[in-house]
Amino acid sequence: MKKLIVRAFILSLLITICCFAHAFGKETIDMKDIHWLGHDTFKIVGENIIYTDPFKIKKGDLADIILITHEHHDHCSPDDVKKIQKNNSVIVTTPDCAVKLSGNIKTVKPGDSLTVNGIEIEVVPAYNTNKQFHTKNRNWVGYIFTVNGQRIYIAGDTDYIPEMKTFKADIALLPVSGTYVMTADEAVRAALDINPKIAIPMHYNSIVGSEKDAEKFAAGLKGRIEVKILKEE
Ligand SMILES: [Zn+2]
Repeated sequence: MKKLIVRAFILSLLITICCFAHAFGKETIDMKDIHWLGHDTFKIVGENIIYTDPFKIKKGDLADIILITHEHHDHCSPDDVKKIQKNNSVIVTTPDCAVKLSGNIKTVKPGDSLTVNGIEIEVVPAYNTNKQFHTKNRNWVGYIFTVNGQRIYIAGDTDYIPEMKTFKADIALLPVSGTYVMTADEAVRAALDINPKIAIPMHYNSIVGSEKDAEKFAAGLKGRIEVKILKEE
């Protein structure tokens, strides 16, 4: 009898926890909902399926929203967009990428903000400061978008830039490879300015950069900001 009461108590406790998690769960995003598909390609699964910079897509769910940061082939890839695009997918990108694509496209520049399918999206600048691959006058971008109450920042191809001090993000997806974008050391400074709860390195293992850059980034932030190195899916 006693056992039965204990079991009933545990069961009711579990049900209570489940109900609370369900009611308040929408306020957080689970790391398992963030999938790294290599380079700058992420699939974020919530009420919407959101892709960033689809590139070398092997398989995948269809996208509700596709965010593309600039027109370079490893970010704005028409063949890869086709693999995840459906009739009502909304693509948000810069005008120079938009001309390569078709469908429901919203063109943006730094400073814009918009809401797509209930997802708030802020468009932020992305540019080089010590190289010429992504000059500021191109008006290429990064995005801060809100999923389940969490602000996710995808940096695009950028160096460490002063505007980052003003960015507010819970999760920051930052390039770490150097060459075309900031180095791991520069990305550490960027992360410290942005001060997210979680930083995730990207832009390595594909065109340039290696796991070593991701590890260097994580080591640089140790004890200061939690870094998650995702497995490429
Ligand atoms: Zn680029």
